[in-house]
This record gives sequence, C-alpha cells and structure tokens, in this order.
Amino acid sequence: MTDMRIRAASKTDRGRVREQNEDAVLSDLPLVAVADGMGGHKAGEVASTLALETIERWKERLEGKEGLDAAQALKEAFGEANRVVWERSRSDEDVAGMGTTLTAAWVFDDVAAVAHVGDSRAYLLRDGRLSRLTEDQSVVQQWVREGKLSEDEAATSPRRNIILQAIGTEPTIDDVELLTVDLEPGDRLLLASDGLHGMLHDDDRIREILVGHPDPADACRELVEAANAAGGQDNISVVILDAGAEAERTGPAGPIVVGRPAPSRRRPLRLGRRRLAYLAATVLGLLLIGAVVVLVSRGPSYVLASRGQIVVVLDGSPGSGETPARGRVVKVFEDENVERFSDPARDQLRRGIAVQTTAEAERRLRNLPRLLGPQDTPTPAPSPPATPGLTAPAETAP
Ligand code: MN
Repeated sequence: MTDMRIRAASKTDRGRVREQNEDAVLSDLPLVAVADGMGGHKAGEVASTLALETIERWKERLEGKEGLDAAQALKEAFGEANRVVWERSRSDEDVAGMGTTLTAAWVFDDVAAVAHVGDSRAYLLRDGRLSRLTEDQSVVQQWVREGKLSEDEAATSPRRNIILQAIGTEPTIDDVELLTVDLEPGDRLLLASDGLHGMLHDDDRIREILVGHPDPADACRELVEAANAAGGQDNISVVILDAGAEAERTGPAGPIVVGRPAPSRRRPLRLGRRRLAYLAATVLGLLLIGAVVVLVSRGPSYVLASRGQIVVVLDGSPGSGETPARGRVVKVFEDENVERFSDPARDQLRRGIAVQTTAEAERRLRNLPRLLGPQDTPTPAPSPPATPGLTAPAETAP
C-alpha cells in the first residue's frame, strides 16, 4: 500500500447560546478526535479535555498499528480515558458526575480506525457522497432502531440530548463502537460534536459544505458558521481529515469498505455425546417449566437504573459490583437527576434495581433516599392545630 499524504484541520466554537465551550478537539496526525463534555459549570470542559489528553498520550502505543489492531488499541485508550475522568470526578467535588462523548480516528497505511462513545459522529465523504460511520448512542437513536421514531422526529425530539453512555460516568466503559474504513485518495473524514448535526438536521447540508470547500480549514469554518446561522444552540466542534488528492486515484472510487471486530465468542464446552444429550434434555425441560411459570405468573421484568446522570427504566438485567445494569431504555425520568440521591442510592441505581413493572419502578424511585438541597427541601405541610386531649390519628397502612 502507498502512504497517502494526509492533512487535517479543526475548529471548536462556543456557539451562540452556551456560556462556555465544553467541547474539545484533537488534531495530532494521524490521530484526530472530538469530545463533547457535560456536567455543568466547568465540569464538561474538564471531562472533554482530560479525555483528549489521555488518548493523545496513547499515540506512542498506537504507532505502527493498523486497522482493527489500531481500533482495539483505541478501545484501550478509551478505557484509560474513562478511568481518568471517572477518578477525577470521584475525587473532586466540583466536577462530580461529569462525562464526555469521545469519537477518535487513527489513520495508518490507508486505513482509518475509528472508536466512538456517545452522540458525536464520524462521517466519510467519498465521491461527493456523505456516509455516517458511527451510530449515535442516544435514547432517540435506540427508538429509531426499534421503529418508534423516524430519523426526522429523532432529530428534533426534546430527548435527543440523552445519551446512553459517556466516558467517565461509570467505573468502566464496555460498549465502545469500533470500526475501520479503507481510505481512497480524495476521501474526507469528518468528526463532529452534536452542535453541528443538532443544528443542521439534514446531513445533506453538511455534505454540500464539505463538497464546496476543498480546503479543510475553510470547510471547518463554514460548518461552524452554518451551525451558528441555524441557531448555534450548542458548542460546535469539527475535525476534518483529508486523505490525499482525488487526482492520485487511478480509477473510480469503490464502495466504502467498513470493518468491524467479530463479536467475542466463548470457547465451546467439550462434552461427551451422552452428557450433551442429557444436558439438552434437562435444559429443554427447564425452559418449558420456565416458560410456563413466566406465562402464568408475570409479565416482563424491568430494571430501574441510571444512564449517566439520567434515571431510566431498562428492559434488561441488573449488573453487580462495578458492572452497571444493561438493557434497552423503555422509559426516561426526565425530571430526575442522579445527583439528587444519596451515594448508596446512586450505587444502587448504577447496578440497577429489578422491578416487575414501570409503575413499580416509579414507586421504587420515589422511595429512594434523596439528598435535600435548598430547592428540594419539601415545604412543611401546615400542621393541624394542636387539640389538647386528642391523639394523633393512627396512620393506616397503604
Ligand atoms: Mn453538545
């Protein structure tokens, strides 16, 4: 393979509404990244900056790695970034609960390795066509996948900012999306925070700007300007990486080849034939009994859990120890924030609380011990006038 000349440009902007810029960008070829921090005050800024500093320190270890090997190394770098942000957030009260999205690409030998957490995005522009490489790890995107929302509805939903995971909000990060793309001369990689696609709902608008501005720095500036012209309601960050010139290509551009790591497989159990038959019969029997029990006794089971700062109901299973609960989000408690709960309650929410119904989840949530902040302190109900001689009415069990 030939070594393509690559060049990059980046831009990050506060936007028109936010007081601070909590996004951060990294352009240290062949490593590029965007991070969109969250957590209020200056916490988001701390999270995004810490995450990018950490993965930049991994450059040496990425050196010489290509394709899926590089993607796996990026995943380790993400794990390290997660640990760094998490530990800081646990030890520094000012930044408690902070987190950040992180989307990074490493280019070596004509292959881009991409790692991704959150709702920033990586796109590829080839031959004037723009393709999304990463999937938003957001509640609305999950609902689009399940057919409950259209892409258009998702783009404008008030819940579009709720992400399913972030760097630094849990002790470990498991679900890092990894992929590789074989680059051709003339390809353009774009990494962007949601301040871009959240404002320019239409990917076609992004495509037009990329096509219309061959110089990467010009294109970055135009993208930021367009997002600001559309309202600039969030911080906007873009990184563009250009792989060689189209003129260097010998033929027409081929289809986009995306590689993904194979799902990890367990080593098969080695069992004798008789034991296998016995085991199969036992399992089948248990499954039948289980199915009958489930059908007779109850409906689906859910988990009351936290996703970052947000309290949700999952159709899934609780975790244990440091492992958070897993599953699909079926309900979001938009007015709740894990900050409002005591430490033990937050740990409980992280692992998840098994419940039978979403109504039970609501009940359990109401009964979790809360921290009483100034605005959360309940106003005392007017006490009934003291009537001498009368005993207080006995409390009846619900
Ligand atoms: Mn954002």
